[in-house]
Amino acid sequence: MAELFYDDDADLSLIAAKKVAVIGYGSQGHAHALNLRDSGVDVRVGLREGSPSREKAENEGLKVRGVADAVKEADVVVVLAPDQVQRHVYADEIAPNLADGATLVFGHGFNIRYGYIKPKDTVDVIMVAPKGPGHLVRREYADGRGVPVIVAVEQDVTGNAWPLALSYAKAIGGLRAAGIKTTFTEETETDLFGEQAVLCGGASQLVQYGFETLTEAGYQPEVAYFEVLHELKLIVDLMYEGGIAKQRWSVSDTAEYGDYVSGPRVIDPHVKENMKAVLGDIQNGAFAERFINDQDAGAPEFKAARAKGEAHPIEATGRELRKLFAWVKPSDADYTEGSAG
Ligand code: NDP
Ligand code: MG
Ligand code: MG
Repeated sequence: MAELFYDDDADLSLIAAKKVAVIGYGSQGHAHALNLRDSGVDVRVGLREGSPSREKAENEGLKVRGVADAVKEADVVVVLAPDQVQRHVYADEIAPNLADGATLVFGHGFNIRYGYIKPKDTVDVIMVAPKGPGHLVRREYADGRGVPVIVAVEQDVTGNAWPLALSYAKAIGGLRAAGIKTTFTEETETDLFGEQAVLCGGASQLVQYGFETLTEAGYQPEVAYFEVLHELKLIVDLMYEGGIAKQRWSVSDTAEYGDYVSGPRVIDPHVKENMKAVLGDIQNGAFAERFINDQDAGAPEFKAARAKGEAHPIEATGRELRKLFAWVKPSDADYTEGSAG
């Protein structure tokens, strides 16, 4: 059974006594920086020269510095630039300015797990990874709640890494929900697997195939969109509230019977074999290498895949249909093409 931690298990004064530098002000960066500030922590944001994020952070009243200067001022440095640039930022600007006895915080274990960053042996290395997108991490905190976090210690030279990690998790609101103890390896491998096999990759492909199957059979795209994409949220909300069982309880007996009969026909045991192969490539580092090599080459594979996804007919159908429902507009407005920042 996993070890769980809540607000009462953490001492907020530990992180409140530190100077914290949050490097990056995107999806996670803005949420960590604002939540820390509102929990009484002394925060500065570290951004590169000419950063488009600077104005957003300044508009919130946050102190903004160059990355090197932010690191020099800080006892705790939170690395929330995109995974593919973290090793450059670490080597060029963080490592040379990081004091002995300082703490490095990550929001995902990628660069440590795959060895792209090898932290100095004079600092603590911890992870506090919210299990939700950054915009939700901020919104939940502002509403008095929190997104669950998973917490890990990779390197503990001061002997205080774990209590500080819990203190940090409390300050961003994570322990209002729960903190689960993990390791960098477990977090990285399960996070990559979840997003690739089920949440992002699996769900997107499933929806696209469903839409293609219906429209190729001559059904109207608008009707197909409702059946395979729009209603997915309603189904997932039920699963979120009460598991797969609650979803099956809520739908009609016809739908429930169809679930049992046709689910395993669509997602057959072969899919599980594919999932095991995906997990294998995560564990042996092949996925990480492919991602980083592509990024280093200017991301040709990534950009081509993104363009192909955006050109799928389901996107045009959805854009038109969503204009018709006012209640979807606010979350659509958060979305800007390309970046979650
Ligand atoms: P984003 O892509 O949203 O981060 C963009 C931010 O990083 C921008 O402020 C950008 O500034 C800044 N940045 C980019 N390059 C540099 C650089 N060279 N030096 C300094 N700052 C730079 O990242 P995410 O928030 O998505 O991810 C951050 C970390 O959090 C990752 O480790 C990710 O795996 C993890 N994570 C992310 C989740 C999410 O919800 N997105 C969920 C859980 C974990 P500029 O304006 O200059 O471009
Ligand atoms: Mg992830
Ligand atoms: Mg139906």
